[in-house]
Amino acid sequence: MEPLTETEIRHLAEQALAYIPERVKHYAPLIGVTYGRITIRNQKTRWGSCSAKGNLNFNCLLMLTPAEVIDSVVVHELCHRKEMNHSDKFYRDVLRVFPGYWDQHKWLREHGDAIIRRMTG
Ligand SMILES: [Zn+2]
Repeated sequence: MEPLTETEIRHLAEQALAYIPERVKHYAPLIGVTYGRITIRNQKTRWGSCSAKGNLNFNCLLMLTPAEVIDSVVVHELCHRKEMNHSDKFYRDVLRVFPGYWDQHKWLREHGDAIIRRMTG
């Protein structure tokens, strides 16, 4: 796949900023958690993160993945508001709200690296 230009990356970030906070807003009450600030970044290492204060951070490259993959990352990060780990209990919370989680996780594992490689600089 072609490397992304700066303009394309900026465009993805704008799209992500318009889209991802809506998905967070949708899932937070279903999971039963609150959250802080939402930041969109372009990163080569991770798809999302959640700080101890509940600030969420998402990779703008998620906009190059299917909607279900984006939701799976949103649910994953929001469930860290309950469990700051990847324990069985954490994944039970994830699967309760998003039963197809492992399919989307698999998609990211198979295609994620190729997408991240398009990020240059
Ligand atoms: Zn995690």
